[in-house]
Amino acid sequence: MYLGDKERNRVALYKCKKCKAEKELSKTTIKIIDGSVRVVEALCSCGEYMEDTTEFKGYPNLIRTEPSLKD
Ligand SMILES: [Zn+2]
Repeated sequence: MYLGDKERNRVALYKCKKCKAEKELSKTTIKIIDGSVRVVEALCSCGEYMEDTTEFKGYPNLIRTEPSLKD
C-alpha cells in the first residue's frame, strides 16, 4: 500500500519533544520518513520532528504500515 503525500487543512499545534519548541501549522504534508509517519512542515530547527499536540487521535490504520526492517 502506498501512502503517498497526504495534506490536511486544519490548524494544529506541533511541539518538539527535544527542545520544547512549538509551531502552529495549518497545512501539513505527511510522509513516511525513516519508517515513521512524519509531518514535513513540522521539522524543528533542532532536527527533530515535532508532534501534533492538539489532535492526538492517531492516524487511522496508517501508522503501523512500516515494513519490518530489523537487522
Ligand atoms: Zn526541536
